[in-house]
Amino acid sequence: MVPKPFAGMPEGGPPAWTPEGGTALDVALEVLLRGPLSRAELARRLDLSQATLSRLTKPLVERGLLVESTGRADTTAGRPGQPLDVDRSSHAFVGVKLTGEAAHAVLVDLGGAVIAARTVDLDSHEPDAVADRVALVAAELADTPRVVGIGVGLGGHSPDRSTVRIAPFLDWHDVPFGELLAERTGLPCVVENDVAALTAAEHWFGAGRGLHTFAVLTVGAGVGYGLVVHDRVRTHPDMGLGLVGHFPVDPNGPLCAEGHRGCATAVLTIPSLTRQASLAHGRRIGYDELMVLAEQGDAVARQLVDEAARGLGRLVAAVANLTMPDRIVLTGEGIALATVGGEALQDSIDRERDPRASVLDVVVRPGDFTQWARGAAVVALQDFVLRSP
Ligand SMILES: [Zn+2]
Repeated sequence: MVPKPFAGMPEGGPPAWTPEGGTALDVALEVLLRGPLSRAELARRLDLSQATLSRLTKPLVERGLLVESTGRADTTAGRPGQPLDVDRSSHAFVGVKLTGEAAHAVLVDLGGAVIAARTVDLDSHEPDAVADRVALVAAELADTPRVVGIGVGLGGHSPDRSTVRIAPFLDWHDVPFGELLAERTGLPCVVENDVAALTAAEHWFGAGRGLHTFAVLTVGAGVGYGLVVHDRVRTHPDMGLGLVGHFPVDPNGPLCAEGHRGCATAVLTIPSLTRQASLAHGRRIGYDELMVLAEQGDAVARQLVDEAARGLGRLVAAVANLTMPDRIVLTGEGIALATVGGEALQDSIDRERDPRASVLDVVVRPGDFTQWARGAAVVALQDFVLRSP
């Protein structure tokens, strides 16, 4: 048992979010997600009178939660033209992405921006040992009383956002990881599927900001799929099983471990691509080198990357045809193939889509482990600001 690293949080820590709840919460959320906004614009968006809005914002400004966007709190609250913003430095959150090998941790502010990042290796999958390791890295990162929550993202499912029902990479079944971590840190802890967490971060602070319906496809060790419908991240008990990973994308592709010919896992993932490249070249070739070789015109690398990009294009087109999102965000630590194989990707999307269909809005976002960990932090952030007063 490690000591509670956050037990020394001083009295009078960060300001409470909106204990008033109700419309005050709506005001604070609108400023957090769409700000900075003038009071006039806020009143218009929330369909409130100027007088009601001033009454609601006054205590939020006095508490230091909202500030004039010049950066200084204005307790007179009497300048309706001056934009209001959330003081993003007022609160911080730790996010941790767990893989089978490491815990990638970040500290983010109230605006979802990454302030610091750190990674530690895991030498055991034993839950108490992982919790000890995560608590220590969180304590190192979160050397500030502004930290009010921890989020954990993993390839698995936690229906109550605390107990991990299943996490294949860690070989966990019914592990009360949220509890183990809360005991060690003294902070509220939220556990979420990693793709759902990444999707939540894109929804509030990323490429999905302001969209009601969008999809996220991730490529890395596996293939992940996240969906926001009517402004909510879709969750399901089967998240974490990697179902989309076995979607067929190439009838002539290699076999996956489950025996599917040319499924997304066999065609797109980092392990599959590096294995094929290494076999062809007779030496170990990593993912970054594979991309460089493809760009330099190495025939084997070029063909592998283009075939993978065409496969990704089929998956993108299928998602677009079946769920009709306003945007598809491509990310993950193995998404470089979407850029290096950009022409093949676009060609494949065009081939699979009806020529009369709307032009697809596809955005490629960097997807390293910092971004995965940020997703976990944003889940903790959402839990904090949406928690009922
Ligand atoms: Zn498969």
